[in-house]
Amino acid sequence: MTTLDDSTPAVPPLVIAIDGPAASGKSSVARELAAHLGWTYVNTGNMYRAATLAVILADADPTDESAVLEVIDRTEFTCPVRDGRSVILVNGADVDGELNSEPVNKAVSHVARIPKVRAILLDLQRGIGRSQPSVMEGRDIGTVIFPDAPWKFYIDASEEVRAKRRGLQGLTDSVRDRDRMDSTRKTAPLMAAADAVVVDSSEMNLAEVVAHVRALLASRSFPETGPVQAPAASA
Ligand code: C5P
Repeated sequence: MTTLDDSTPAVPPLVIAIDGPAASGKSSVARELAAHLGWTYVNTGNMYRAATLAVILADADPTDESAVLEVIDRTEFTCPVRDGRSVILVNGADVDGELNSEPVNKAVSHVARIPKVRAILLDLQRGIGRSQPSVMEGRDIGTVIFPDAPWKFYIDASEEVRAKRRGLQGLTDSVRDRDRMDSTRKTAPLMAAADAVVVDSSEMNLAEVVAHVRALLASRSFPETGPVQAPAASA
């Protein structure tokens, strides 16, 4: 696990970390929760997808680390917050509509395993989470990006249910291949933080998962009304 740098503030960030495998429902849960709380919704998968799109558009091979880095080094990634959600811009352009294509699905886990790509996006993710209350979803939010987040969830679902959910979205996405690559890579692999609450959403619909997570938050020093303060870190 990455250690935090010296600039890490002593106060825990106002971040709800939501991790989990592909198509577990974590994006929908994070989006709903952020809207309910009025917090910023941060989809870190979209950042890796945007980096991958830049590589594909440059005709570089996503499995060739030096070719990927050559593209990433000359590309600017910025994350302004618009309408309550962080948006990833590539050289100033909003690429949101191009992030879920089949070529991106196929290549993204190759790009995401490169440590330098992760280091660049880590800075962007920490920048957002430290500057505003955020519901941030991804693979390593509770383990690496904000290990000091006071509220952590790992949303899971059976592989069968997840493949079905992707199919219903009309997307071709080899969920199993991505999960295998994401959970076996050396840097920041997909895994539940030791202090995350694991929620199996296989048998629940979205409203049920959101209600469940809200009930869990309420039992973990999270006030539904009034100013929110992170609980003091335990010694
Ligand atoms: O969340 P989503 O499925 O859109 O993520 C796309 C890919 O981005 C993942 O399969 C993974 O390779 C990468 N990712 C990551 N770390 C994150 C979020 C996403 O490695 N925090």
